[in-house]
Amino acid sequence: MPAIYQRARPARFDEVVGQDHVTSLLVAALRRDAVGHAYLFSGPRGVGKTTSARLLAMAVNCDAAAAERPCGRCDSCRAVRDGGHPDVIELDAASNNSVDDVRALREQVRLAPLRGGRRVWILDEAHMLSRAAANALLKTLEEPPPGLLFVLATTEPEKLPATVLSRCQHFRFRRLSDDEIRGKLERLLAAADTPAEGTALDLLARAADGAMRDAESMLERLLASGEPLTLAAAEAALGLPPKERLEQLASALVAGDLGSLLAGAAALYADGFAPRTLAEQLGRTLRDALVALVTGRSTEPSTIDADEDSLVRVLHTLDDAQERFVRRGDLYALEVTLIRAVAALRLPHTDEAGSRAGAPAALAPDARPSPPAPAAGPATEPSTPQAPVFDPNSRPPRVPAAAPAARPATGPKLSWHTLLARAGPQLKAFLLPAEATLDHERLDVRYDARHTFHFGQLQRREQEFLELLDALGGSHLSVRVEGPGGRLQRERGAPSGETRAAPKKA
Ligand SMILES: [Zn+2]
Repeated sequence: MPAIYQRARPARFDEVVGQDHVTSLLVAALRRDAVGHAYLFSGPRGVGKTTSARLLAMAVNCDAAAAERPCGRCDSCRAVRDGGHPDVIELDAASNNSVDDVRALREQVRLAPLRGGRRVWILDEAHMLSRAAANALLKTLEEPPPGLLFVLATTEPEKLPATVLSRCQHFRFRRLSDDEIRGKLERLLAAADTPAEGTALDLLARAADGAMRDAESMLERLLASGEPLTLAAAEAALGLPPKERLEQLASALVAGDLGSLLAGAAALYADGFAPRTLAEQLGRTLRDALVALVTGRSTEPSTIDADEDSLVRVLHTLDDAQERFVRRGDLYALEVTLIRAVAALRLPHTDEAGSRAGAPAALAPDARPSPPAPAAGPATEPSTPQAPVFDPNSRPPRVPAAAPAARPATGPKLSWHTLLARAGPQLKAFLLPAEATLDHERLDVRYDARHTFHFGQLQRREQEFLELLDALGGSHLSVRVEGPGGRLQRERGAPSGETRAAPKKA
């Protein structure tokens, strides 16, 4: 039953993840037989401080040859690991603060080791020591009895008296990266021969927030059912809304699709998720999309199609809204937040045109009523008289008024976002991974080698795609869809003569 956790607990220093800067020094001291008498291990919770303290306690009492310590297998090592070694004492400073405790501590540290190795005191939460206890400890640290080793562990070293700090060798443990945690979880799952969805591991690693112990105990809880580990199970265990629904919400938000946005939010609210959680997780989702966009690095293709500016705007708004949820946690508060985020998308740009040029996401010239969204792919920008002149610094660019299917004045704004928002669910799913550039005369859609399947599916739905485009006022556009090993192309001049067949790329 405690299988995972037992396996998770390192039996050797080289199994401690992410703290090589500490463990290498400890191992070196062990090899030189130069282990000190007082150590302070500080760092965030759950990153291996107590584990390393136990390993050190094992090592100084281990029966194996010096180079092998701690072996993790001898009687002494096993006794430490099981908490039954007579010379290794673990204390929680928070609950051993009374005068009696202090007296007992002072007496006990004078005792000689029972098994002939070293007596080791591991003091967890050392910053919780009372003044009396800290003073007693200090006396011991000033005149350490032979054979005694103190290891203090704390998340808040700055709360310890300077006199105590100055007598300890201080090692700082670092917060673990998501990758480090994920790697460990993968090893544990492999050892337990349990399959798991990669996205579930991503979620656990992230939810652990740098604390390996949290990740391991979550994993153990999830595997108690004996079922394979799925994203849905991990989300449910963590009380988080399903990723897919968050991504739909995020897509609707950045597309300015208020109807879908509010409907999606109301449905999640009805399912029992708190508005605060929803806003937070929505923010997380958008943040991930932004990071993937600016770093070009992502574990999986983002399903959220938005440019950097839009993502930054909505993230700002969601962040500002956190305070509102402290005051009220009803659906109305969530709706106001989402409406404000959509409004933020529509504010005029203040940044310089071109600042996002080259961004991999689609840049829609008229995604917003206000200027100016620079057209991506500047090389295709024509300046010939027969093309409508697009000046990013003047007015909001529009689909030419005479474009056949454009509805007058209130017609939908033709952008990649709009296209995605109006596409049927299947078509949309196949369009999402594509990179698109849409300006007033041509639509370029590109699939990279990872999305051969999506490209193939789009080819099968060519008619649906072109009809949708036309219905949204894009019949004047020339269209090119390129993917691995193929291409779809439609050249079309506008019947009105206002636009001609778009010039091909030079
Ligand atoms: Zn051993």
